Formats: sequence, C-alpha cells, structure tokens
Amino acid sequence: MRFYFLILLSGVFSSLWAAPIENGIPAKEALKRLKEGNQRFVEERVIRPNQTYERMMRVSEGQHPFASILSCSDSRVLPEMLFDQGLGDLFVVRIVGNVADTDEIGSLEYGTGHLGSQLIVVLGHSKCGAVTAVANGSSMGGHIPALVDNIIPAVKKARGEGIKEEGLIDRAIELNAFQGIEDILIRSKEIRHLVFHKKVTLVAAVYDVSTGRVKWMGEHPEQSRLLKFFEAEMRIPKIAEGSQSSEAPEKKVSQAPLTSREPVKAEGSLNEEKP
Ligand SMILES: [Zn+2]
Repeated sequence: MRFYFLILLSGVFSSLWAAPIENGIPAKEALKRLKEGNQRFVEERVIRPNQTYERMMRVSEGQHPFASILSCSDSRVLPEMLFDQGLGDLFVVRIVGNVADTDEIGSLEYGTGHLGSQLIVVLGHSKCGAVTAVANGSSMGGHIPALVDNIIPAVKKARGEGIKEEGLIDRAIELNAFQGIEDILIRSKEIRHLVFHKKVTLVAAVYDVSTGRVKWMGEHPEQSRLLKFFEAEMRIPKIAEGSQSSEAPEKKVSQAPLTSREPVKAEGSLNEEKP
C-alpha cells in the first residue's frame, strides 16, 4: 500500500514540475512593477505592499512570485525593499557576486519552472566587494576563490574593452550581471527552453547603493546568438512529443541535441574557461 502511495506521490510531483504553474503575470508587467517599486523607493514614497497579516495568511497557502531575482548577498542590496514589494512577491536567490552556479541555477529553475515567475532579473550592484576583489586580484582564502571564479570572465571582458582602471570595476559589475544570464542560459536546459519559447524573460540590472536607483540593462546583447547554439536541442523534444502547438518547428532538425557548454566553448567568445 505504502509502495503504491509513493508511486502516486512521485507522479504528482513530477507532473507538477513538468507543468509550470502560470501565475498570470507576464514578464513585461513584472518588469513594470519592479520599475515602479524602485521609483517609489528612490523617491521615498514606498507603499510597502503585501506586508499585512492577511497577506501572510494568504501566501501561506501557496506562493506565486511574479519575478525571480538573482542578487548579491551584500547587506545593502535587499530586493524586497529596493523594489518596494512584500510577502510572496519575489523569489530571491542571494549569493556573493550574484554569480549563477549550480545551486543558484537550480533555485532559479524552481522559481520559474515550478513557481511560475516569468521574469528573471540578474541584479548586480555598485561597489560590489566580490567584483572589486577579483578585479584587484586580492588574495582570498577558504572557499571564496571557488565562489567568485564565475566573476573572472566579466573582469577579463571589461579589460578587453579597454576600460580605464577608474571605470573598470563599474563596467565589470555590469558585465558580471550579463555573465550571470549567460551562465544560466548555457547551463540550464530548463530555463533555455522557457526563454526560447518566450515563457520567461531574463534581464540584467545594476543597483546603485549610493542612490537607490536600479539601472536596467535589458536582455543579454548576444542572447539570440547564444540560443541559436541550442536551437536543435530545444526543438527536438517538441517533435518527440508530437506537439501541435504554434511553436512547433518549421523545419526538421537532423543533428543531435547540443549539450551544455560544448558548442559555446568551440565558439570561444561567449564563455571562458575557469582558471
Ligand atoms: Zn556584491
């Protein structure tokens, strides 16, 4: 009896995972809410929405955050506060340097694929100690080097753009937010699919800890090119499932699905090897 119950339970969970819950808030509307919330924060006219006892009780029944945020752990960067949001509004992943490594990507897959948020914001911030330490080549002990090595490509790219030292860290912070998007798209087949089929939008932004203002930088400038590497992989499941949706492929794909980082390595410009 217990065995059959477990099979039934696992079936329910796997089907829940396979079928994302739509929270009904498109990325465009989610982005508008964040922009308006940040504007209120900057102008010191916050309304602190959804922070009542009633809201707490309501979301205790289930959560449908309208946006997922990958931000730094920095004590000055509090997404709910700087976007003027409340309980159940944002699915927040915080990590030093807002890097997108395995656990962070898994968390974002949960926030989008399972909880249904259709917008992911990779939020860097000014005066980020992690980016500064990497740019300055500071010596770091313990587990920190393994944590911040995802930032190295952004610093290299900023130097490659010929940015002078005084502007290098600010530019590396911007590029590090884009690097987060790149790492998510390269490593997460689930999120790639959602982005490819226009169910999820990924944008980069940088929060200024001195003004409270968020600078919106939009999608990764090379997102289309990046997704093109995986186009075959993303269309094949639709063929296999015999999907009749309007998103069905226009042409048949003859090659095998591309895997993770390999095609990007071959291209050699979108991703750099960790040292
Ligand atoms: Zn930081």
